[in-house]
Amino acid sequence: MKTTETDVLIIGAGPAGAIAAALLHREKFRVLVVEKQVFPRFVIGESMLPVSMNLLANAGLLDAVQRRQFMRKNGAVFLRGNETCNFDFSSQFTAGYNYTYQVPRADFDQTLADAVAARGVDVRYRHGVTAVNFDGPHATAGIEQPDGTALSVKARFILDCSGYGRVLPRLLQLEEPSTLPPRDSLFAHITGDVRPADREEGKIWICMHPDGAWLWIIPFSNGKTSVGAVAAPEFFQKFPGDPETQLRAILLGDPNAARRLAKLQFAMPVQRISGYSCSVKRLFGDKYALAGNATEFLDPIFSSGVALALASSECAAKVLIRQLRGEAVNWQVDYADHVMQGINTFRAYVSAWYDGRLPQIFFAPQRNPDIMRQVCSVLAGYVWDKSNPYVSQADRALMALTKVLGGLQRAAARKAASAGL
Ligand SMILES: Cc1cc2nc3c(=O)[nH]c(=O)nc-3n(C[C@H](O)[C@H](O)[C@H](O)COP(=O)(O)OP(=O)(O)OC[C@H]3O[C@@H](n4cnc5c(N)ncnc54)[C@H](O)[C@@H]3O)c2cc1C
Repeated sequence: MKTTETDVLIIGAGPAGAIAAALLHREKFRVLVVEKQVFPRFVIGESMLPVSMNLLANAGLLDAVQRRQFMRKNGAVFLRGNETCNFDFSSQFTAGYNYTYQVPRADFDQTLADAVAARGVDVRYRHGVTAVNFDGPHATAGIEQPDGTALSVKARFILDCSGYGRVLPRLLQLEEPSTLPPRDSLFAHITGDVRPADREEGKIWICMHPDGAWLWIIPFSNGKTSVGAVAAPEFFQKFPGDPETQLRAILLGDPNAARRLAKLQFAMPVQRISGYSCSVKRLFGDKYALAGNATEFLDPIFSSGVALALASSECAAKVLIRQLRGEAVNWQVDYADHVMQGINTFRAYVSAWYDGRLPQIFFAPQRNPDIMRQVCSVLAGYVWDKSNPYVSQADRALMALTKVLGGLQRAAARKAASAGL
């Protein structure tokens, strides 16, 4: 069997893998990235958050992304019937980027992987990891090569950035069910989207469907638009037919989506993902760590996946660099706690979205601009800024705000009722 040696073996060349490769290579460590597929390849997860711009810049990868002229995303608009809540990233609590991009992931991921390879990182496509062993002084991985033969890689450390492949969680039995209820998603790229003008054009639209789903509309600079629906599995049973018929009926059944998408044409077969939320028992172990979607994936509602992938991978690379240099590191404190801070902040918002607190806040008749700036920074991905009370005490702050709004709404209803008497 062919064998090779490296300092760090990275499984997967998605955003998490590319960022870690760039950072480790910059510090002169030998990095081998193995990727099961051939790029460009389709993957869902196309709306970025402004915090990702900081992370790409830190890894020296932002210039390559900016050269692609992706659609500029200036914010997020939530719509429910005739109610709207329009977040603009220029109105934020946390100092940081006030825009980001909407990216077809085939192009975005290839841009990152090519930029990393151009710097000299060994990126091998059609190389799928099938086995790992952590006994002994080195980690070893068994890899299937394009011709079907096996390659054995000896590494000082393995970083699992395999996303939905979840290589180490599966091979090391680290998988844990998510605490979130199962949800499904139907999605596709389309043409025929009638977009708003100017700085509104690139904002993501999140539409609350009258029958109990939410929809995304993500416009790209290549003329196509990503559309999708997310709901409990039962929701989709109300829409008979093949996935294309189902998705069309769902999109046109929402008044706001229908305004933009009346003339939609599918530009790819409609895809379905079921029960996408997942978790793991731990984020690291002896000679390995997990980053990106190989850790925990919550829910797409706040487009947090790529931001969390980049942030966890950056953090893992920084801790690993110190470890490889012989410094004592504490993976729990320096890595897992940091990653969980981001995940848990988004978890509070995901829960508040589905239990109705966030829609109540977003569509309140009067919104406090200071609070909305703090919430906007969370939606921009600045979930490590503990000076923001809507980060440091996310759940408690959202709960308290909903109570106040509930009280105001009851008082307004009483006043209206007595005025009517
Ligand atoms: C319905 C839905 C909508 C979403 N929308 C958004 C959104 O708008 N914005 C957002 O930020 N996120 C979104 N996400 C989340 C997003 O898809 C992921 O968080 C993101 O792709 C994670 O990046 P990653 O680098 O961890 O993994 P990936 O991008 O999945 O990359 C992992 C790579 O590892 C490779 N791999 C797998 N197995 C192996 C193996 N055995 N050997 C070698 N290589 C392997 C894969 O081929 C893949 O290329 C969405 C998710 C869902 C389910």
